[in-house]
Amino acid sequence: MATPMFRFDPVELPPEAIALRHEVRDFIAEHQHLMGLARSEFNRDFSRAMGKKGWIGMTWPKQYGGHERSAFERYVMIEEMLAAGAPLSAHYIGDRQSGPNILRFGTEEQKQFFCPKIAAGELTFCIGMSEPNSGSDLAGTRTRAVKVDGGYRINGSKLWTSNAHRSDYAILFCKMASDGKEEVDRHGGATQFLLDLKTPGIEIRPVINLLGEHHFNEIFLTDVFVPDWLLLGKEGNGWNQVTSELAFERSAPDRFLVLFQMLREMVRMAGPDPDKATAAALGKLISHLATLRGMSLSIAGMLQEGLSPNNESAIVKDLGTRYEQDIPVVARQLFPTEPELEAIDAYVSLIARSTMNAPRFSIQGGTREILRGIIARGLGLR
Ligand SMILES: Cc1cc2nc3c(=O)[nH]c(=O)nc-3n(C[C@H](O)[C@H](O)[C@H](O)COP(=O)(O)OP(=O)(O)OC[C@H]3O[C@@H](n4cnc5c(N)ncnc54)[C@H](O)[C@@H]3O)c2cc1C
Repeated sequence: MATPMFRFDPVELPPEAIALRHEVRDFIAEHQHLMGLARSEFNRDFSRAMGKKGWIGMTWPKQYGGHERSAFERYVMIEEMLAAGAPLSAHYIGDRQSGPNILRFGTEEQKQFFCPKIAAGELTFCIGMSEPNSGSDLAGTRTRAVKVDGGYRINGSKLWTSNAHRSDYAILFCKMASDGKEEVDRHGGATQFLLDLKTPGIEIRPVINLLGEHHFNEIFLTDVFVPDWLLLGKEGNGWNQVTSELAFERSAPDRFLVLFQMLREMVRMAGPDPDKATAAALGKLISHLATLRGMSLSIAGMLQEGLSPNNESAIVKDLGTRYEQDIPVVARQLFPTEPELEAIDAYVSLIARSTMNAPRFSIQGGTREILRGIIARGLGLR
C-alpha cells in the first residue's frame, strides 16, 4: 500500500487577488483608528462596513448573499486584516464556519434566512461545542435534546463559548436523548441546532480570562425550546457535520498571524542594524512565517479546487501555534522588559498581551495532542 502523503503544492496568487490586496490596504487605512488591537475585538459597525465591501461570505453563492470570489481573494483579504489587527470577531465565526456549515447541511429556508445576514455583517454566530467534561472528547457531550411537538426541548450546559454574550446565534452540538438505552456508538445521536441565544431558558454567565477580559462564557440551557426549522442537517448526523465544521475552523491563516503586530514591534526594536544574534533570531521567526504562509496558501488552493484538506489544515494549525508560542519567548530573550498590559509603549503592552495569550493557541480549535492524533491518522500511523 502506498504511504499516504500530505499535499502542499506551491501556489501563485492570481492577478485579482493581488489587486484586491491594495483595495484592502486602502480600507484599513481609512479605518486606522480601529486597527492594531486584535482580531478578538468585537465591533459590529466594522463588520457591517466589511459586509458592504463584499468581504464576508466572499466565496459563497450570490443567491445566498455571497460574492462567488476565489479562495485566494478571501485569503488575501483575511491576511491583510489579521496583519493589521482588524476587529473581525463580530463576523469571523459566521464567515469561517457557521455560514459554510449552513450552506453544506442547511435547508433552503435556513440558507436564505441566515447566510445573507451573516454576509452583510448583521448576524453574529458563536460555537457551542465544549462542555465542562467534554472538550477534546466532544463525543462525551452531555447536553440532550428531546423531540417534542413542533420542535425539540434541550437541557445541558456549554463552556468556553467565545463571545456568546454578544452573539445572536450559536451552532449547538448535543445528542438526542437515548430514552434510557445504553450508548453503543459514541457518535450516535449527535445533532446540531441553530440556537437563537435570546430563547427563554438560556442563561449566559461570564468566564474571565487571564487578561482580565470577558471573552468566554458558560451557557446553561434549561428546557430550551428550539423549533423544527432550526435543526441543522439531520438528527444523528451531528458528528459528521461537526467534523466538517472543525475543518473549516482549522484551515484559516489566523493560526499564525495573531501575533504579527508583536513580530513587527520586535523588528522595530531591533532597528536597522541589529547585532548578529538578534538578526539570526528574527530571521528564523520570519522564515518560519514565510513557510507557514506558503503552506496555508496551498490549503487555499485546495479549497479553491473543492477539496477538503483536513490533514494539511491540522499540520498548519499545529506548526502555526507552535510558531506563535515561540514569538513572546524570543521577544523576552532579545528585548527584556517588565510587561505591562496598559503601557503606552506598544512593545511593552504587546509582550504582556502575547505572553498571556500564548497558552490558548494550542488549546482552542483542538489541542496540540488532538491535532497530532489527526496528523498521525492522516499518515496512516494509527
Ligand atoms: C481561547 C479559547 C477559545 C475557545 N472558544 C471556544 C468556543 O467558542 N466554543 C467552544 O465550544 N469551545 C471553545 N474553546 C474550548 C476548546 O475547544 C477546548 O478547551 C479544547 O477543545 C480542549 O478541551 P478541554 O479544555 O476540555 O481540555 P481537555 O480535553 O480536558 O484536555 C486537557 C489536556 O489533555 C489532553 N488530552 C485530552 N484528550 C487527549 C487524548 N485523547 N490524547 C492525548 N491528549 C489528550 C489535551 O491535549 C490537553 O492537553 C475555547 C478554548 C480557548 C482556549
